Amino acid sequence: MEQSRTQSSLDGSVLVLNRSYMAVHVISVRRAMVQLYRDIAEVIHVEDGHYYNYDFEAWLEMSEFLAADEEQTQPHEEWIQSVNFSILVPRIIRLNSYNQVPRLTLRFNRRNLFARDQNTCQYCGRQLTARELSFDHVIPRCRDGKTTWENVVCCCLNCNSKKGDQLLADAGMRLIQKPKRPQQSPILKVKLDNPKYEVWRTFLKGRSLSLDA
Ligand SMILES: [Zn+2]
Repeated sequence: MEQSRTQSSLDGSVLVLNRSYMAVHVISVRRAMVQLYRDIAEVIHVEDGHYYNYDFEAWLEMSEFLAADEEQTQPHEEWIQSVNFSILVPRIIRLNSYNQVPRLTLRFNRRNLFARDQNTCQYCGRQLTARELSFDHVIPRCRDGKTTWENVVCCCLNCNSKKGDQLLADAGMRLIQKPKRPQQSPILKVKLDNPKYEVWRTFLKGRSLSLDA
């Protein structure tokens, strides 16, 4: 497998459970692999509605076993390839000794905002890549507009400069929808639509409202 595929596998996400199987974080594959290797965590592998626990060694063996049977590999599975072994990217890990239940808060940040608005300019409706987008205070900050879910929207660079520091009416512009605080982490919502992360659902009941992915 080429380097680039391993690279993109490492950039994926892993759901972290505490000792009591409660979802507490979402981290990168890279970080999850370090925790597995250091024996801080184990892999939770979901198969046919059942889940199984594997420490690093056991997961490595399991990966070898799965890799040997190419017909059994799933299209959304990802692998990390090294000189000595290939290992199936885990989608869920469980921390061996951490048993706290952190309070989860929905982070107001660029990534979540873009995910909420589906990378779509809320003025002209164009869907663009994150690089081509900016965000805008509907009521400008110079007029006391707040930096909140209800007053900040994703917008394209054109609309952003057209609107500037004006109110919507003054700029002759309209919102395509009223911005709201999301009921669920927008990034998590996007991830759950991807078959790669389907297995997370088992552990997200009641925890998905604000789990920041
Ligand atoms: Zn626009």
